Amino acid sequence: MRIELGRLTEQPLEASEDIDAGKWDLDSFDVKFIKNIHIDCKFRRSGKDVFAHCSVLTHRLITCSRCLGKYEQEVSQDFNLSYRVSLRSDYLEIDSDLREEVLLNFPMKVLCKPDCRGICPRCGVNLNIEECRCKK
Ligand SMILES: [Zn+2]
Ligand SMILES: [Zn+2]
Repeated sequence: MRIELGRLTEQPLEASEDIDAGKWDLDSFDVKFIKNIHIDCKFRRSGKDVFAHCSVLTHRLITCSRCLGKYEQEVSQDFNLSYRVSLRSDYLEIDSDLREEVLLNFPMKVLCKPDCRGICPRCGVNLNIEECRCKK
């Protein structure tokens, strides 16, 4: 998202943008971003300081590390960003910061749900879906 600094004043300015998830190159082997990344930001400027409150909505396809199932998750995150801008610059670019925030929010362990029961090591049944008859 690129904002023309000349348009920013003390009055909040709202801006939205949809970014092709492929452009941000976020995918890892078990988390793939699908659809667009939707960004809503509200900017406010006070002299050289620009404050932005942004919310980012993404859709990701995860491969659960426990049951190996693939699930689509909708994730929305809110960020507060602040910038000190030079009076000589015309634009403010915030994409790289938003991208970084999304990356920081990557789950340490990718799970379909916190209490995923995984698959039975003996018969391979997905224990979220059915009980297996193996003896514990
Ligand atoms: Zn799972
Ligand atoms: Zn089993």
